[in-house]
Amino acid sequence: MLSLTRAPSSILHEVFGYEQFRGPQAAIVDHVIGGGDALVLMPTGGGKSLCYQIPAIARHRAGHGVAIVVSPLIALMHDQVGALHEAGVEAQFLNSTLSLEEAGAVERRMLRGDVTLIYAAPERVTTPRFLAQLDSLHERGKLSLFAIDEAHCVSQWGHDFRPEYRALTVLHERYASVPRIALTATADAITREDIVERLQLEQARQFVSSFDRPNIRYCLVEKNDATAQLLRFIEREHEGDAGIVYCQSRKRVEEIAQTLSRHDIQALPYHAGLDPQVRQTNQDRFLREDGIVMVATIAFGMGIDKPDVRFVAHLDMPKNIEGYYQETGRAGRDGLPADAWMAYGLNDVVNQRRMIDESPAGEDFKQVMRGKLDALLALAEATDCRRVRLLAYFGEASSPCGNCDNCLNPPKVWDGTDAARKLLSTIYRVQQQSGISFGAGHVMDILRGKKTEKVAQFGHERLSTFGIGAQFCEAQLRGVLRQLIAIGALAVDGQAFNTLKLTEGSRAVLKGETAVRLRESVSSPVATRRRSTSASKAAPAAAAAAGLTEQGQARFDALKAWRAEVAREHNLPAYVIFHDATLAAIAALSPTSLTDLQGISGIGAKKLEAYGQEVLRVVQQV
Ligand code: ADP
Ligand code: ZN
Repeated sequence: MLSLTRAPSSILHEVFGYEQFRGPQAAIVDHVIGGGDALVLMPTGGGKSLCYQIPAIARHRAGHGVAIVVSPLIALMHDQVGALHEAGVEAQFLNSTLSLEEAGAVERRMLRGDVTLIYAAPERVTTPRFLAQLDSLHERGKLSLFAIDEAHCVSQWGHDFRPEYRALTVLHERYASVPRIALTATADAITREDIVERLQLEQARQFVSSFDRPNIRYCLVEKNDATAQLLRFIEREHEGDAGIVYCQSRKRVEEIAQTLSRHDIQALPYHAGLDPQVRQTNQDRFLREDGIVMVATIAFGMGIDKPDVRFVAHLDMPKNIEGYYQETGRAGRDGLPADAWMAYGLNDVVNQRRMIDESPAGEDFKQVMRGKLDALLALAEATDCRRVRLLAYFGEASSPCGNCDNCLNPPKVWDGTDAARKLLSTIYRVQQQSGISFGAGHVMDILRGKKTEKVAQFGHERLSTFGIGAQFCEAQLRGVLRQLIAIGALAVDGQAFNTLKLTEGSRAVLKGETAVRLRESVSSPVATRRRSTSASKAAPAAAAAAGLTEQGQARFDALKAWRAEVAREHNLPAYVIFHDATLAAIAALSPTSLTDLQGISGIGAKKLEAYGQEVLRVVQQV
C-alpha cells in the first residue's frame, strides 16, 4: 500500500523514483500547489511534465479532485497516460480514439473526482458538454488545476498555431480560482508575449529556464558526399542507437532510409506522403523498439518525447535557427550525451535562398526569412563556439562550451578576401563579355584556369581573370561563395538555372572593404570519441555513462531484452517501463535485494512493487 504523502519531494521520490528536482521544478511545483498561475518556459527535455503532474497528485491527495491537461497531441496521450499508470498514478485521456462507451466511462470517473489527471485535446475541453462537466466538478471543489501543454500553439508566431487554443481563455473566465500552468519549449519573446496575452496569463508567475542543452554536442560539417558522411557518422559513433535523420524532400527520405537499411542500420521512413497507416506504424516502432533510426521530413517529431534519441542529423539545412534548435532538441532528453550533426553545402544555401525568393509572400516577410536564414548560415560558417551563438540567438549570454565541434577542434581560419574579390570580378567579367550569367561551377573553372568545353565555347579563357585563382581548391571557393551569398554580396537567380549575379553588396567586397574570413575545410568530419575503443560493438550512451564492465554489459543487455518483452505486453514504449539510465544503474549495481533497488533513480514505489522481483531474477540469471 502506498503512503499518501503530499510533500512534493516525497511524491517525486515515491512516485517517480527521482532523487531531486531539476532546475526550477521545485519552485514551479510549490507555486502551483499553492494555487498560483504559472508560465513555464523550459527547453525540450527540461522536465516540464513533472511541473504539473506533481501538483496534480499533491492537490488530488489533498482532496481537490481532477487536473485537466490540455494537449494537442492526441497520438501521444496514450503513452503519456500509460507512463503515469506505470508509476501508479490514476490518469485517463479523453479523445476521438475512444468509443462513446469508453469515453462515457472515463467521464463518469472524472465526475466522481477519483481520477488524478485527465488528458484532453483543446477542441474537446471547450465544448459546451465538457464545460458543463467542469462546472459540476468546480461547484464541488473538485477541479484541481489546468495544465496547458505546448502553449505556443496559441500564438500565430509559433510554428504550430492551433486556433482552438484561443478558446482556452474560457478556463480563466469561468474558473478563475483554479490554478493554471502553461508550458512551452518555444523561447522567443514574441511568442511568449502572445501566450501571456492570448491565455490571459498576465498575473501568472513566469519561470524561464536556460535554453542550453549541455549534453547535446553540436557539429556542423561541410557537405561533400552527404550520404557517405552520414553513414560514417552513424557507424562510427552511433551503432545501434536510436536517432532521427532529417531530409528536405520525401524522395530523399526514401532514398536515405533504403541506403541505411542496406548498411544494416535499422531505418524507417516518415513523411507526409506515406500512407497514414504506414506512417503511424513507423512512428510506433521508433517509439517502442530500441535503436531505430527515423529518416524523416520535418513533418516528424512534434511532441515526440522519446528520451533516448542519441542523435539528430540534418542532411539538408533547415530554414532557420528556431527550426534547427527545435529539431536538434529532440536528442538526449534523458540528459545523457547526444549529438546534433548537420552537413551543409553551397547547394543548401542556394536552395533556401531560392525558395524564399520564389515564394508568393510579400517583400517584408521575405526580408525576415532572409534574415533568419542568414543567422543560420552564420552559425554554419562560425569558427567560434556554436552553443554561444545558438544561445545568443535566443537572447542568452554564455561562454564557450567545450562540447561542440569548434570548441573541441578549433578550426583553422583563412582570409578569403582575395579569393572573394577574384570570384566577384570573374562573375562581373563573364557577364560583361557574354551578356549572360553562369552558375558556380563554371565561374570556379574559369578562376582556376580549367579549359573545359564550356570555357572554350564561350572563349572564357581570354578573360583577364582566367586562371588567376589556380591556388584555390574548389572546396575553398565553394566556401567563399557560400559566405558571399550569406552576406548578400552575391545573388542566386533561381529563375535562370541558379546563375550567380552581383548585388549592391558586391561593391564593398570588390573594393576590399569587407573582409571575408572563412573556416578551413576539414575533411575529417567528426572528432571520434566514445566509440574509439577497440570493441566491435559500441556501448550505448547509458552503459558508457555507467562505466559498465563486461559482466555489467551482459546484465544491461539482459535487462533490455526483459524490458522489451514487458513493453510489448503493456503496449507501451520501452522507456516508459524503465529508462536506459535506470537499467544501466541496475546493471552496474547488480542488486540482490529490493532494498538495493530502492535507491536507484527511476524506480518509484509502484515500479518496485511491480517489477522488483523480476529485475532481481533477470540480473541474477546472467
Ligand atoms: P519536457 O516535456 O520538458 O521535454 P519531460 O517532462 O519529458 O521533458 O522530461 C524529460 C525527461 O527527464 C523525462 O524522461 C523525465 O522522466 C526526466 N526527468 C524530469 N524531471 C526529472 C528529475 N527531477 N529527475 C530525474 N529525471 C527527471
Ligand atoms: Zn562550444
